[in-house]
Amino acid sequence: MNDMVKNLIFWLVIAIASMSIFQSYHYSKIKNNQIDYSSFISDIKHNKINEVKINKKNIYVIKKDNNRYYTHIPMQDHKLLNNLLKKNIKVTGLVSKHKGIFTSIIISWFPMFVLVFFWFFFMRKIQINGGKGALSFGNSKAKEFSTNSIKITFNDVAGCDEAKEEVRELVDYLREPKRFQKLGGKIPKGILMIGPPGTGKTLLARAIAGEAKVPFFSISGSDFVEMFVGIGASRVRDMFAQSRKSAPCIIFIDEIDAVGRKRGSGLGGGHDEREQTLNQMLVEMDGFEENESIILIAATNRPDVLDPALLRPGRFDRQVFVGLPDIRGRKDILDLHMNKVPISKDVDSSILARSTPGFSGADLSNLVNEAALIAAKFNFNVISMLEFEKAKDKILMGSERKSMIMSNFQKESTAYHEAGHVIVGRIVPNHDPAHKVTIIPRGRALGVTFFLPKEDILSISKNKLESQISTLYGGRLAEEIIYGKEKVSTGSYNDIKVATELARNMITKWGFSDKLGPLLYADSDEEDFLSHNFSKNKKFSDNTAKIIDEEVKLLIQKNYNRARKILNDNLDILHSMKDALIKYETIDSKQIDDLMNRKEVRIPINRREKK
Ligand code: ADP
Ligand code: ZN
Repeated sequence: MNDMVKNLIFWLVIAIASMSIFQSYHYSKIKNNQIDYSSFISDIKHNKINEVKINKKNIYVIKKDNNRYYTHIPMQDHKLLNNLLKKNIKVTGLVSKHKGIFTSIIISWFPMFVLVFFWFFFMRKIQINGGKGALSFGNSKAKEFSTNSIKITFNDVAGCDEAKEEVRELVDYLREPKRFQKLGGKIPKGILMIGPPGTGKTLLARAIAGEAKVPFFSISGSDFVEMFVGIGASRVRDMFAQSRKSAPCIIFIDEIDAVGRKRGSGLGGGHDEREQTLNQMLVEMDGFEENESIILIAATNRPDVLDPALLRPGRFDRQVFVGLPDIRGRKDILDLHMNKVPISKDVDSSILARSTPGFSGADLSNLVNEAALIAAKFNFNVISMLEFEKAKDKILMGSERKSMIMSNFQKESTAYHEAGHVIVGRIVPNHDPAHKVTIIPRGRALGVTFFLPKEDILSISKNKLESQISTLYGGRLAEEIIYGKEKVSTGSYNDIKVATELARNMITKWGFSDKLGPLLYADSDEEDFLSHNFSKNKKFSDNTAKIIDEEVKLLIQKNYNRARKILNDNLDILHSMKDALIKYETIDSKQIDDLMNRKEVRIPINRREKK
């Protein structure tokens, strides 16, 4: 009996708590609007208004010149209605739905009903499983979607054509594994999808399953990390056992970094659970037979923290980059989502795409959704540009930047920065040619320049290394030349770090200093995270240390100055490359050729064929 009472009190407390949360949420939803009530009043005075629609405190205003805006009543204004009617303005009141006493009772008691429902549900489940259900921790949490429930296809994924191309062959394989193998096709077991949140990694994985019509198991890395040692590992075992039965199939692991962090990096200790889970996963992957036709797809935003063992051949050895969409991609994604809702003729998705740099696919889908909600609030039949603008403001203000949405200045300075890298890289001798530059934010970097190595890097000449150092400083120098020393951003941290490490290695490991000679002044395989032990096993005198520092500095200074001279000699290219980057956001090697030859820039390939 005591148990019964305890149970009852427990549920009552939960019920009351959730009820109050629900209600405060209910009230807080009413706020959040940019108010310019005074200009609305002045518009009334000056006879500029044709019609208003009022929903509680929100007012949608249609002016006589057919301009429209929203405003918000700051406090009770009893005279408002009279004033409006006096001016012959058409007033529509929109009734908030739940007004009756009965409905409001239902609303405030709703959480209670839900709880009671769940309570019954769990009770029944426990009874059915004889208590096992509630405690069967080990079972895999992987959710399986049966074959025909996945209706997602590649057509539902937009704005990441490269990634889509890269995974297309998996579909053929999953459809007819036998035939594919007979033809000698080799398929990777594991694919790592790398990219910021909301760029469609999950969507793409599900589209592969949908196209191939195979089952799709999905689980999040964080589901493996439990309080009790051993549970994560057994969950992995279960998941693989379960999926083997339904092969061919896809297993999707979101946030793999939650389990897949480097082992033994040992910060804080006590990561036994995670390591066991990771080990189990590696064991399972190695146990895959060639013909088992299970494809593992994992997603992460932080490939740099993953345990290298995960990335070895035969494991997640193929990487697919799913980046933030560029202008073109954003337009495609917007079009895709706009197709599902009624849109007014004045909506131009390319204008919206231009003003949403840094938005992910999920942000854009959210944008369409928010606009639809705003329109619904005022009973509009279609969504117009105004609603989209309002929704954009709301998202921009609301999410003080989870992802990176760039200001115009940021965009310009990033363009100069990346152009600086490219130009120096093109002009210094012996440097790999830049094959693609982008100012779309990626990871924690604002822009990226990709250099394509001409041959495998087994050994590099001194000459080439110095060129790399110059190129690394090209970004920062471009900013400095354009904006002056005071306004240089902190965005060059990584460039400086890499350049400094390179220079230091040249002096201390690779014997490129005449003064110090070809001697090793550092432990060759010293790990980065151990470098704080460096001073302990130092093998040289303080005086030598001083010379090393001087030599490193000299080497950097020399290449820094070279880069500055190159940029100053080619300022016109710097400006035109910046313009091209702002216009296209991503430019390829052909366009870089044009810019370097001071010719007109051709249109990027990925924009030519589509309408
Ligand atoms: P991720 O797994 O990369 O975090 P998701 O695949 O979960 O992102 O994306 C969340 C939602 O955002 C999707 O369900 C989809 O509605 C929308 N979305 C994201 N990227 C795209 C895209 N490239 N094309 C169309 N919709 C997208
Ligand atoms: Zn840089």
